[in-house]
Amino acid sequence: MSAIDHDYIYLQPPCCADEDVGRLWCEDPDPTDCDDGKHWTKYVRSDIYEAMRRRVAELNSICGRFSNIAYNIHQLDRPVSQSDKQALKDLQVEYDELQRANQIEGGKSNGEASNG
Ligand SMILES: [Zn+2]
Repeated sequence: MSAIDHDYIYLQPPCCADEDVGRLWCEDPDPTDCDDGKHWTKYVRSDIYEAMRRRVAELNSICGRFSNIAYNIHQLDRPVSQSDKQALKDLQVEYDELQRANQIEGGKSNGEASNG
């Protein structure tokens, strides 16, 4: 991957493919629909996709732990303990860090911070 590689590319719908050349690829921005009204298929660069998968997994982990704490407080009908408060505070810190990282990554994929 290089800095000039596009984040997304598009593959022409098969209905309009040239018999000899085949389906065409096109770079960003999103091409208009073909004459048959079909969308071009959008592909995302694999490093962007993998980073997104990691962020979703981290977010799922945070949500799961938050849900466990909330469930225990609600279903067990017990008062919020000091350890619950600390666990929620830790989750908030983790969530804030993830959000900050997402903003930085978002800036990179928009070309704001790419340098090679
Ligand atoms: Zn078409």
